[in-house]
Amino acid sequence: MDFNSLAIKIASRCNLNCSYCFMYNLGDTTYKSQPKFMSTEIVDNIIDKTKTYIQQYNKKEFFFLFHGGEPLLAPKEFYIDFVTKVKKIEDELNDVVFSFDIQTNGVLLDKSWIHLFKELNISPSVSVDGTKKAHDMFRVDHKGNGSYDDVFKGVTLLNNEMNFADIACVININDTPLEIYNSFKKMDVSYVNFLIPDYTHNNYPFNKDETVMGDWLIELFDIWTNDANRFKIPMFLGLLNSLTMINESSTNESTVLIIETNGEIEAIDSLKACGHGFTKTGFNIKENTFQDIEETSLGKLYFNNFTSKLCKQCQECPIQEVCKGGRLVHRYSKEKGFNNPSVYCKDLIKLIAHIQKFFISCFPDLHEKENIEEINPADIINYLSSTNFDTNFYHKKELESFSEKNIQLV
Ligand code: SF4
Ligand code: SF4
Repeated sequence: MDFNSLAIKIASRCNLNCSYCFMYNLGDTTYKSQPKFMSTEIVDNIIDKTKTYIQQYNKKEFFFLFHGGEPLLAPKEFYIDFVTKVKKIEDELNDVVFSFDIQTNGVLLDKSWIHLFKELNISPSVSVDGTKKAHDMFRVDHKGNGSYDDVFKGVTLLNNEMNFADIACVININDTPLEIYNSFKKMDVSYVNFLIPDYTHNNYPFNKDETVMGDWLIELFDIWTNDANRFKIPMFLGLLNSLTMINESSTNESTVLIIETNGEIEAIDSLKACGHGFTKTGFNIKENTFQDIEETSLGKLYFNNFTSKLCKQCQECPIQEVCKGGRLVHRYSKEKGFNNPSVYCKDLIKLIAHIQKFFISCFPDLHEKENIEEINPADIINYLSSTNFDTNFYHKKELESFSEKNIQLV
């Protein structure tokens, strides 16, 4: 078991009421049984057990991500107390570096919060859904009013006070890439983490023979590369790095665990799209250690299996080293667990081929010298769809026992 980040849900309530929010508005009401804010007892357990874990696994860096609900609903003293306690173990452990991030909806951002982030070295990221029209369609307050104008003010303040503004944006293909790109230029952001929506093989809303997401991303990529003052898009930078075989250390999904407000230990939120209660382990930081997760059926799937193992099709795929099978949630199906290629497989092939073409056009000599083969998306799709890859990487029994256990936990 190997992870290096904890996402901590320090507040279980939110000042917004986004219509698509899986915490409040998609049938899961478990937030009602959570305390509104994380207690000092849970914080002490988190820090204590993180210290033990770091010592056992000889970690050199560790990330804390403050999350919610809306984390800015918690009092500022919470952050001062948390960071002070972590600094204390940082001194004791000697050669470990801790980093702090916070994911906020941005509505409550003001100068006093930003000063606190600077003082405690916390890096904020704000969730924005692209254009005002798209954002206000879903990201509304409890009276139904759109939140874009408040968020815009918060992001402007971040720019003024910290000289950077990082954004997380779930892609909504109803807006064109140009509309979305221009709206972020207007905000003058530094970095946009575009996220492909969390669909599985069981609830994918698009036609699998079409590549709407890939085509959308290709258009965005072209706009981005043609802009001399572009902001950073980690998805594109990551693919460019992989194509040029530059290895960058990054936090991937399997290296993150979630701590709920009441101390429950869970798998990453995006896997909630795999089914109600899917991320539950039944363990709590008060009584359990992180290592206990390894013995759960979810832990076996999550840590021991599919992070290192790809399905047969991905293993045989010529661009596997660049694509890496896509994100975990996109591989899931009720029938075969994570033993599938990404539901966005064809989109990824097209996007990666397009980015490689761009790269080759920038460095034609290098391309010839290194004898790099050009990716032909049609050839790969034909090869993958004409071959039978039906080999399972875990036993059916394992999947069944996981499903049974998870149903019991819900
Ligand atoms: S801001 Fe985040 S936590 Fe709050 S309602 Fe919206 S999606 Fe949910
Ligand atoms: S392109 Fe498709 S088959 Fe290839 S690694 Fe990615 S998801 Fe797997």
